[in-house]
Amino acid sequence: PFKPTSLLVTGGAGFIGSNFIHSFIAANPGCDVTNLDCLTYAGNLKNLTAVENNPRYRFIKGDICDASLVATILKERSADAVVHFAAESHVDRSITGPEIFVRTNVLGTQVLLEESRRHWQSGAVPDFRYLQISTDEVYGSLGETGYFTEQTPLAANSPYSASKAGADLLVRAYHETYGMPTLNTRCSNNYGPYHFPEKLIPLMIHNIITKKPLPVYGDGLNVRDWLHVRDHAAAVETVLKHAAPGSVYNIGGNNEWKNIDIVHLVCDLLDARLGRSAGENRSLIAFVKDRPGHDRRYAIDASRLKRDLGWGPAYTFERGIAETIDWYLANQEWVAEVTSGAYREYYTQQYGGK
Ligand code: NAD
Repeated sequence: PFKPTSLLVTGGAGFIGSNFIHSFIAANPGCDVTNLDCLTYAGNLKNLTAVENNPRYRFIKGDICDASLVATILKERSADAVVHFAAESHVDRSITGPEIFVRTNVLGTQVLLEESRRHWQSGAVPDFRYLQISTDEVYGSLGETGYFTEQTPLAANSPYSASKAGADLLVRAYHETYGMPTLNTRCSNNYGPYHFPEKLIPLMIHNIITKKPLPVYGDGLNVRDWLHVRDHAAAVETVLKHAAPGSVYNIGGNNEWKNIDIVHLVCDLLDARLGRSAGENRSLIAFVKDRPGHDRRYAIDASRLKRDLGWGPAYTFERGIAETIDWYLANQEWVAEVTSGAYREYYTQQYGGK
């Protein structure tokens, strides 16, 4: 296997990146981790308090589009692997403001690829891997049956997924053109601790606790596959260490849910925990106008990852969702902090300030 000794993680102050850093640092005592993150509204150093004093961890505040900064970090840290999480990640925001998605997700990826190529070709490190974190949304939408495989053509429908698909194609090009040892993972929807409350599950948990309406798009029948964020982190680590350069792997939980069923589940689990009567939280549900271009169904076939590298999820959804709800209940201070200020303005604009 490939054994990294100095890893550059981008976007490590976000939801998935921070969870990845926690598990990777703990499981890899022989590896340093540098986290490059410019701390947008979605980046929060409070996600990383448990590792901030670890001598193998370092945070650098900066932009992935800053080529000279990226080059300096790669060189000074003798980085032999890059795991690229940094992105604009929220579909709704990409509909109202696509430009930043192209800048961060496409241009930012190109800068990282280019600086990684120079660093790798300089021979500064004996071996090197570049791992691009992507999403099943690059494949577009499915009907009631079928699954996305790694061979499914890219057919992104939102500015967010289009920018991620553009980045994935650049990664492919760097492998095909320069022979760079790239890897690309495409994962389904994640849930778990440190998830920013603009996304479905934490938004529902937060609004139920504060007794606010629960906005559900359209008829609520859109289907998503859900994976616990720590399972995603474990899959990424497996691919980084064991996958052949140039490969693409889907990551998924085999765990399809209609949005409305997830909302009902979260409502019911919180009825019990908040001492409310059965069905009380469901009365907060408020259907809202559908998101334009809303993909109907995503379902991912992650069998290649199981077959080639033996990876499968460790969490059952029952355990994962219950633990996630309990984490939010125990971390209300974190929620209050990330939902103050700029987020409040965004929420008012999106849902009319209810
Ligand atoms: P997030 O929005 O929680 O975090 C993104 C992080 O990137 C933030 O810390 C932000 O500050 C940082 N960032 C943004 N622009 C930057 C820039 N120009 N320079 C440096 N840092 C920058 O996102 P997430 O949900 O943790 O997603 C991480 C990655 O995983 C993304 O690439 C996303 O496309 C992908 N992904 C997410 C999901 C999901 O369900 N959340 C599923 C599959 C794939």
